[in-house]
Amino acid sequence: MKIIEDNYRHKGMRQQLVNQLRNEGFRDERVLSAINEVPRHVFLDSSFVEYAYTDQPFAIGAGQTISQPSTVAFQTGLLMVDKGMKVLEIGTGSGYQACVLAAMGAKVFSIERQRNLYFHTKEILDQLPYRVKAFLGDGFEGLPSYEPFDRVIITAGAPIIPPKLIDQMKVGGIMVIPMDNANGDGQVMLRITKTDSGLVREEFGDFKFVPMLSGTASD
Ligand code: SAH
Repeated sequence: MKIIEDNYRHKGMRQQLVNQLRNEGFRDERVLSAINEVPRHVFLDSSFVEYAYTDQPFAIGAGQTISQPSTVAFQTGLLMVDKGMKVLEIGTGSGYQACVLAAMGAKVFSIERQRNLYFHTKEILDQLPYRVKAFLGDGFEGLPSYEPFDRVIITAGAPIIPPKLIDQMKVGGIMVIPMDNANGDGQVMLRITKTDSGLVREEFGDFKFVPMLSGTASD
């Protein structure tokens, strides 16, 4: 079991990261205060503490990455989360994004498809004070027994808008999804709002995520 330490040095580095995001033009103070609160270094191997508070993605094992802080901030801002909302995350990965959402008062349900990563991350989540329920499974299927969700956030590059996830969303609900572009060299960030009369789609620029894959994997 890993002992969680969050000292003044960590807090100082985190404050600097938040200032950097603010200077780069990110203005959602609710999101920034969640980023200021969640100890990102806890989600990386302890030898990489220095890297935890730079605006970079980072390898977390099993060929997966923890998204870079500016991407986490951007997706979280687009999601427009309020306290008490039920949020479904696809791609738990390190668990960091899930904790940022929980720090904003969301009830987070997060699915990871890679078994080892799921168990590793669950151990870390169990030691943190955030309301995150982690599941091993295929995000394309969602969580039918916990629907409906107010918000859905996908943190892997999706080939399609998963229909079952739309079904599991409330009317008025919002999905933020990086969707594979036509060139096959990255994703475009979409915000999809579910209305009575169908889906409303907004686009927010280019990103690069690891792929969203079907089924579960044992590595
Ligand atoms: N949100 C994460 C970033 C995760 S990277 C964080 O904050 O660290 C994307 C993750 O999505 C990877 O761990 C990958 O294994 C997972 N993933 C890919 N396809 C998936 C699927 N269909 N269902 C659930 N997880 C999936």
